[in-house]
Amino acid sequence: MTSLYQELETPTFRLAVAQFEEAAERLGLDGNIRGRLTLPQRALIVSVPVRMDDKSVKVFMGYRVQHDTALGPSKGGVRFHPDVNLGEVAALAMWMTWKCALAGLPYGGAKGGVRVAPEKLSRAELQRLTRRYTAEILPLIGPEKDIPAPDVGTNAQVMAWMMDTYSQEMGYAVPGVVTGKPLAIGGSLGREDATGRGVTDVALEALRHLGLNMAGATVAVQGFGNVGMHTARIMHEAGAKVLAVSNTKGGVHSARGLDIPTLRSRYQSNVRPLHECGVGEFISNDDLLQLECTILVPAALSEQITEKNAAKVRCRILAEGANGPTTMAADRILEEKGIFVIPDILANSGGVIVSYFEWVQDVQKYFWKEQDIRDRLHEIITAAFHRTLEFSQAKKVSLRMAALMSGIDKIGQAHLARGLYP
Ligand code: NAD
Repeated sequence: MTSLYQELETPTFRLAVAQFEEAAERLGLDGNIRGRLTLPQRALIVSVPVRMDDKSVKVFMGYRVQHDTALGPSKGGVRFHPDVNLGEVAALAMWMTWKCALAGLPYGGAKGGVRVAPEKLSRAELQRLTRRYTAEILPLIGPEKDIPAPDVGTNAQVMAWMMDTYSQEMGYAVPGVVTGKPLAIGGSLGREDATGRGVTDVALEALRHLGLNMAGATVAVQGFGNVGMHTARIMHEAGAKVLAVSNTKGGVHSARGLDIPTLRSRYQSNVRPLHECGVGEFISNDDLLQLECTILVPAALSEQITEKNAAKVRCRILAEGANGPTTMAADRILEEKGIFVIPDILANSGGVIVSYFEWVQDVQKYFWKEQDIRDRLHEIITAAFHRTLEFSQAKKVSLRMAALMSGIDKIGQAHLARGLYP
């Protein structure tokens, strides 16, 4: 047990637990349920041996953590990144539990990952890594058990290999085992840009609440992957001026607003630095986070806004596209500055909401039109925004605390109703 705690003891896990404990304390959550929910329900550590193209064998560390399954199968992405560790995966799994409960989805939370730099692998190596990782976590996953999805460093192709590996083992096609798949094998229309669309939907509600609107708003986005790129595109289409975007190698900035369609057409993942695309001037990630703007969207990794830079953040609204981008110390500074923070488990829940739609379509074998998906996403995420805002006003707590308390309360009630087995 001690060693499990040691493995879990990372800054991201401590952040998730500290947030949970503050919310649980305010809720007066039952002590036994509290003890259970500070830890994962199940955590699997796997070694993933991969035959490299030069015929050598490299072994990678992989994880799958299920935080809670009281409400249904667990749901959560798979991350391929060199910093992946058990504590981070467990923290992300815990946030998935609260996120699904807040949106009213019949899921618990999970997360997985492999400690690897995917851009350093050939396509064939990446496929072998994905298939072996899937085989190793196979006892845990399944459409009624635990349903992976894309996260940092993974995409629709990786999901297709996971679905195929699982289906080969079962002997028949099981599209519902993962979400974020290509359309050709049971993916959903609207899943690709769902997280960015959801970030935009809640940012629009926050603007309205503050008496502002999207036309005339200025935006800065850290991270130009699935979440960041689509958020920048959709906000640009909605009339906002996107001042800056970035990736690991820094970013680009234009005071007049970036030409996002041109930037997208010239940018291919992380292959080419953004500032070599001929759109805007170079800006560092540190400077981007401190730009004066209406909406700042961190859409890369966790702990980007800390007590070191929070005082210099100059946005009106912070919409957390990434998971855990703000530390608790930074949160207090942002609150004092009067910045309207839309917390991660609310702001980026568009991804898991449309993943839920994809799973429903796969299980029912009946597929919806894209407009239906957008409308239903809009309905669920804006209702969650307003419920959370009302809760925060009624209880006089931040929007983050309100979101956490709402999600945790639902899980607490489910545990109380089900009772302790045996
Ligand atoms: P991605 O791999 O598609 O993109 C990540 C982007 O962040 C890349 O552009 C990368 O270059 C950039 N990046 C990485 N480290 C950075 C750094 N230190 N500074 C600046 N940029 C950096 O990943 P994604 O799916 O877009 O996920 C981004 C975040 O959003 C993660 O925190 C993830 O957990 C969260 N999230 C993703 C989804 C989803 O549907 N994909 C849903 C909810 C939350």
